[in-house]
Amino acid sequence: MPAYRDVLPADSSFHEACARHTARTTTRSLQHIYLCDACAIRLVREAFNDRPPLYHGETIEGYCGLCNTLGQVTLRQWFVCPVCWNVVVAYQKSFVAALAVPAFWHRDMAGHFPAFELSGTDEVRVTPFARGASTKREAARVLKVLDYLVSERVGDEKIGRFHIELKSGPGSIEQMKEFQLDVNDFNDIAGAINNTGVPAYIFHLKLDQEHRAPTRRTIAAGMWWTDPETLRANLKNIKKRRGEDKPAAYFRPSAFRPWSVFEKELASRRFEELARAGQVQFIG
Ligand SMILES: [Zn+2]
Ligand SMILES: [Zn+2]
Repeated sequence: MPAYRDVLPADSSFHEACARHTARTTTRSLQHIYLCDACAIRLVREAFNDRPPLYHGETIEGYCGLCNTLGQVTLRQWFVCPVCWNVVVAYQKSFVAALAVPAFWHRDMAGHFPAFELSGTDEVRVTPFARGASTKREAARVLKVLDYLVSERVGDEKIGRFHIELKSGPGSIEQMKEFQLDVNDFNDIAGAINNTGVPAYIFHLKLDQEHRAPTRRTIAAGMWWTDPETLRANLKNIKKRRGEDKPAAYFRPSAFRPWSVFEKELASRRFEELARAGQVQFIG
């Protein structure tokens, strides 16, 4: 049976305040999510400034809204503003995305290419909302690391062959009209290539949601890949998204190829050709 039953004290000054905002920020949005005990405690400690739920409801078998695991999950209720809530419900997708590249790699590549090794993680950080908090990334001009690095063992040496930057979303490349990427994201990738002399691939992961009411899980449903120069050759335009101030770049999805042919790409050692091509120009 679920053991975690802490609740926000009735006289707390954080009633009608966003649990994720570190400084008291009024919100009257009540949010509900089914969580396993471990994830409820993790959210409270890491994202919600040690503010427990207002309420613990029914316990059922379903998918945890954070870790995506099927098991005993309990309905929990907090005051969280809509902006922060979007962040909280996206964590489940982030956890699944972080497992996907290592899983695809070990299933389809590791056996064929024993000299190659995938390292790094697209680590998910569960965080509160604090104004002026440091961003995940350094500026592109000093950036040296992307989500993953594939190295090759040659004798006693391990040589970095290519980076992988992972993007994910609900779309299938085959059905997309355009592939969107923040201009900053493209430039981060270009920066890491230029700073390390190691080329990069961009992977797109399709994430599906499967409902098991009242819970749902996220599934890694497909992967595609491209390289930054091929992507740049397919740039259609750059514009600001509605309601956002960061510009986004729009590319033809035909820049991407299916995961099933990545094995050939690796066997052909095209990463050597990409490395010789050298610097990647920024966009925007
Ligand atoms: Zn969980
Ligand atoms: Zn908030």
